[in-house]
Amino acid sequence: MRKVYLTGAGPGDIELLTLKALRVVRQADVIIYDRLVNPDLLKEAKPGCECIYVGKENKHHILPQDEINTLLYDKALEHESVVRLKGGDSVVFGRGGEEALFLVSKGIDFEFIPGITSAIAVPEMANIPITHRGKSVSFRVVTGYESPDKGYAQLDWSSFKHDETIIFLMGLHQLENICKQLIGVGKSKDYPVAVISRGTLEDEQVIVGTLADIYEKAKDLPTPALIVVGEVVRIREVLLGEG
Ligand code: SAH
Repeated sequence: MRKVYLTGAGPGDIELLTLKALRVVRQADVIIYDRLVNPDLLKEAKPGCECIYVGKENKHHILPQDEINTLLYDKALEHESVVRLKGGDSVVFGRGGEEALFLVSKGIDFEFIPGITSAIAVPEMANIPITHRGKSVSFRVVTGYESPDKGYAQLDWSSFKHDETIIFLMGLHQLENICKQLIGVGKSKDYPVAVISRGTLEDEQVIVGTLADIYEKAKDLPTPALIVVGEVVRIREVLLGEG
């Protein structure tokens, strides 16, 4: 049956792909993919599969979302199997829900295929477990990229709990502000922070610091990068035998 598969490609390392995602990638007639998708994955596509890049840069989209929607629709009319491939998981700040709603409104069948989100896997592969008994009983994934036109709610900085891990996606350019805001609502300047750049990939870089010094240490790291704030960051050095 004709379908669009809204598929998570995982955080970078292509081995972090689900078997279900691999199956639809191999069967796809068309693959529409983003900047964060590891291009090596496209080698799994069948001969003749049309691969279309609609990569998103930091602030502007190379192709606006409504054009991506239209493209999905047009390709779904022409082909049996269309895969919309996105970094991580497509519903974690990936507009998967919006694309699903659009397809439904057009009477096109769709299926979500979950991916491993960078929010969990990138810290984990950098030896930072995002929950840990006694240190963190919950975690929150938030966007560091606040912009009124994106429609994300303004952050209530005072709502972060002490024993909570905060993972900021799209936050590297906001790193200084994030640290200032957290210090402003009473977090200690020594509170641990890690920035992980190009996590799970061969050129991954992990910088560990505090709310007071992480900005100077990490501001020039290459993207994509995410920020982990919380006591769990300290576990890394113990796991690496540096503690
Ligand atoms: N849907 C994606 C997130 C999209 S938002 C997911 O589930 O992973 C894009 C942000 O994700 C980037 O700005 C960065 O903060 C983070 N990110 C994605 N891949 C990453 C990687 N390999 N290393 C570090 N951060 C990554």
